[in-house]
Amino acid sequence: MDNFKDSGLGEAVLKAVADLGYESPTPVQAQTLPLTLAEGNRDLIALARTGTGKTAGFGLPLVDGVDPETEGVQALILCPTRELCLQIARDLGDFAKYRKDVNVTAVYGGSNIMDQIRAIRNGANIVVGTPGRTLDLINRKKLKVDNIRRLVLDEADEMLNMGFQEELDAILSATPDDKQTLLFSATMPKEARQISEKYMTDPNEISAGHSDAGVSKIDHKFFKVRSSERFRLLKMLIEMDPDMYGVIFCRTRREVDGIADDLRTAGLNAGALHGDMSQAARDDVMRRFRRKQYSLLVATDVAARGLDVKELTHVINYNLPDAPEVYIHRSGRTGRAGSEGLAFSLVTGREMRKLRAIEKYGKITFEEGELPTPDKVYEMQVLRYLEKVEGTSVEDPKLQKLLESTVFDRLKDLSREELISKFLGTALHSLSSRYQDATPFQQERERPEREKKSRDRNIDYTRLCIRAGKAHGMNPAQLIGMLNRRVPKKRVAIGKVDVQRNLTFFDVDTKESNAVVSALTGVVDKGVALEVQVYGPGEAAGRSGGGGGGFKKKFNKGGKKDNFKKEYGFKKKKHRKGV
Ligand code: AMP
Repeated sequence: MDNFKDSGLGEAVLKAVADLGYESPTPVQAQTLPLTLAEGNRDLIALARTGTGKTAGFGLPLVDGVDPETEGVQALILCPTRELCLQIARDLGDFAKYRKDVNVTAVYGGSNIMDQIRAIRNGANIVVGTPGRTLDLINRKKLKVDNIRRLVLDEADEMLNMGFQEELDAILSATPDDKQTLLFSATMPKEARQISEKYMTDPNEISAGHSDAGVSKIDHKFFKVRSSERFRLLKMLIEMDPDMYGVIFCRTRREVDGIADDLRTAGLNAGALHGDMSQAARDDVMRRFRRKQYSLLVATDVAARGLDVKELTHVINYNLPDAPEVYIHRSGRTGRAGSEGLAFSLVTGREMRKLRAIEKYGKITFEEGELPTPDKVYEMQVLRYLEKVEGTSVEDPKLQKLLESTVFDRLKDLSREELISKFLGTALHSLSSRYQDATPFQQERERPEREKKSRDRNIDYTRLCIRAGKAHGMNPAQLIGMLNRRVPKKRVAIGKVDVQRNLTFFDVDTKESNAVVSALTGVVDKGVALEVQVYGPGEAAGRSGGGGGGFKKKFNKGGKKDNFKKEYGFKKKKHRKGV
């Protein structure tokens, strides 16, 4: 089927498809539509990720199949997150533009249940829901699913990953046996297979492939970098591409906040999105990103689910995810239907194995990207500035007057070349100083163990203490990431790190300890300004007693311990060594 007109969809839906500008069905749609619209209503398993056009694949027949004569809910779509739920409901609304008798309602947690009950009562014939809230409504007898004709499980793997197995079981058991079930999933874990075996009848299976077999074209590039230079590389990649409109994926909420914050400090336009934020704050960030008030969105995987932004130019993996399927989900956010996209991954030598696993799993090939040099980035920024100058017209009458009365006359003896270089030199002074002493990236090389040890042994460490611990989500990787980002020009040697409940102790090269204290002090993390202090000597070379012995000796003398205790409010106790 290479034409929507041949699909068997009704006139009203075809008109809506034309309005959306869809010219021909995507491969997933070409396979899904005939199966869903044909007599017999066979069950279907579709291996398809986001970006393949799967929403229309199930949504068009669903809208088309609504029978205005039948009362009650006729189709149910289950999906993992509120964002996706709203997105699907919006898409279905578009498909139903010329079918005023189709009534789509979204139900999800964290929002007023009474409003949702009212919407169902007001004649919803298609319900899109997250599993928890849907089951809640079924249990309250406000949502009747015993007469539905079609059930869609969208992003089934993700729902199972998020622990919705029980809810899915309960909901599926409440639906009639003779309905049609469509299961969409980017991957097919064993639990999804079990669901299909238990609740589906002789399903047809189609696949849009793990990789780019769909409609999009994605270039997968990796950039090899030392862990300590990850942030600098990210920043330079962004600066190299003035038109970048992308999502930067991070592993933790804390990392998301830290990086978004640091990007903003560097003058880049970034929003943060993660599950610790209130729903209203998340909606606000999404809205700004869609309107391009933010050109970059730093996000965790879960928070970015359901984010449907059509023209994303880039997806950047600040770290590679552990599971290859997560990479596929992430990169599927760029290169949406028909357009091209770039998926960049910042990888250390150690992560190369993960990269190879992703290549194998996704049947994709990564190309090694060229590391941007400071000179190149500088050149790019200057060119960008010139573009801005070219596009500027002086409209301010005050400035215009001043130009004519004073400025032109005053500068009349300068040649054109002199004028240009003087103006550019002044305007770009801070830019050139930023790149002047920037060193090129060094490819990461795994140092042999022996070399590492001998280097570390020559360092005199000082132990610092930061007033944030496990209770605040701190862990050694977070701390090291924070240090690398905040003390960028120095490669600070870090010794032992000991994360306790409310405090974190860590050893840094004594020569850098002051720089580290001032770089971290006052850094706002989750709305709290960090406090950092020198705690005592670190675990020096060859000392067997460790940092505990060091601080004990120091703080037992001259009342320093008491001062520290007063300031930090914790009892002296020998902290656990190492991590
Ligand atoms: P999905 O995989 O459902 O998230 O869809 C990805 C994107 O592709 C959405 O932005 C759709 O609007 C777009 N899309 C879906 N089907 C088509 C089509 N046949 N032609 C062009 N764009 C499409």
